[in-house]
Amino acid sequence: MTGENQVATLTDAWDFAVELRADPATAEARGAVLAKPGFGQAFTDHMVVANWTSELGWHGAKVTGYAPLKVSPAAAVLHYAQEIFEGLKAYRHEDGSVWAFRPEVNAGRFKRSAERLALPVVPEEAFLGALRALVTVDEVWVPAAGTGETSLYLRPYMIATEAALSVRPAREVLFGVIASPAGAYFDTGPKPVSIWLSSTSIRATPGGTGAAKCGGNYAASLAALAEAVANGCDQVAYLDAVERRWIEESGSMNLFFVYSDGRIATPELSGSILEGVTRDSVLQMAADLGHEVEEKRISADDWRDGVRSGEITEVFASGTAAVITPIGRLAWDGGEVVIGDHSVDHGVGPVTATLRKSLLDLQHGRSPDPHNWLTRLA
Ligand SMILES: *Cc1c(COP(=O)(O)O)cnc(C)c1O
Repeated sequence: MTGENQVATLTDAWDFAVELRADPATAEARGAVLAKPGFGQAFTDHMVVANWTSELGWHGAKVTGYAPLKVSPAAAVLHYAQEIFEGLKAYRHEDGSVWAFRPEVNAGRFKRSAERLALPVVPEEAFLGALRALVTVDEVWVPAAGTGETSLYLRPYMIATEAALSVRPAREVLFGVIASPAGAYFDTGPKPVSIWLSSTSIRATPGGTGAAKCGGNYAASLAALAEAVANGCDQVAYLDAVERRWIEESGSMNLFFVYSDGRIATPELSGSILEGVTRDSVLQMAADLGHEVEEKRISADDWRDGVRSGEITEVFASGTAAVITPIGRLAWDGGEVVIGDHSVDHGVGPVTATLRKSLLDLQHGRSPDPHNWLTRLA
């Protein structure tokens, strides 16, 4: 096959047909959702689906009415968790246009996750095409600009649909995108969360799936989350699997430490940490703001002792859903430390607040985009 033919095939396979649903939400019903979107509760009128088989490759890509999927009870995903996903947001700017934040980085991560889970790869252009196709059809669901932090959350995913209980990479797969209006994660401005240092649960191991965004990692983290909640905390921090000493991440967010001399550090990518788009962007923005940034190993002892001595002044978590979340307390079996000055600004430190605002302003088009991080979707 010549290169030209390959390009033509790719284009045809990912030419999204549009099947508009006959019964979209009324303007009133949609308005009610957009007035108070919450997170991941309500979905837009349409969704993207595309099918893959080992015989035909990708085919049937379309935008169609949002509806339950029909899958066999023997579908491999239900038994062996052959599944990956992504999460990113579409932001309405003041002039009405709609933009995604570094979607090509999500596309690249989706590709690496697919390879790790033995799923077929969705080409970057097709991944971006799927986002564009859905947002174009459901544009009325993108919250208005100027309402602060609202966006349309986009959730690409891929599942093994083949009805076969033998353990091997599935020969039938579904790729989809759904979309959900998202409100400000914090109703009344960011509030510090508390973190439980799990001494019993490990999220990811060397050679495991920690660097892939797959549902299995989340399923395995729910018991530790329940343990955190039972101990009065909001989230978990996981240690490395080998020495049980080094801080990895919080299971859906990456972690950052701010030092009294202005340095900002995050655990270095170890192969078992999920490489967050927000993490990478915070590293760049912090450097742009003049901070010295480091990716290094940070132990639980470093965290505890650094907070106690005053060397660590702020700790925060980063991820697409909550952007930047201040952390106000670290607790473990037998003790705790309180981070930052809770008598001012609800305990949100100045560096955390500045980075949070800088990132949100860029995403919502309220400040320049020096690194060309925004891609127009509609
Ligand atoms: C998605 C995710 C993050 C955050 O990544 P972003 O790209 O910044 O949203 C962090 N940790 C885990 C385990 C994740 O799945």
